[in-house]
Amino acid sequence: MPPGTEGEDRTPDVPLHYHLCPQCARAVPVQSGELYCVNDGARLLSACPACGAAITSPYSRYCSGCGRILKP
Ligand SMILES: [Zn+2]
Ligand SMILES: [Zn+2]
Repeated sequence: MPPGTEGEDRTPDVPLHYHLCPQCARAVPVQSGELYCVNDGARLLSACPACGAAITSPYSRYCSGCGRILKP
């Protein structure tokens, strides 16, 4: 095992979270490792900027924790 291998954990009962593009509402699973949108280069949201709730649905447009819109 090489030291310093980064989170390649595939535990089946880890809930799936998404990164969401605030520009085009594209969602990618956190496991993909993408940090920026490949469509427009915007920094993907990994959680609600207002309350920090995780994005659990790829179709999220509003935060499930505080109801705030996730795209400008
Ligand atoms: Zn985008
Ligand atoms: Zn929120």
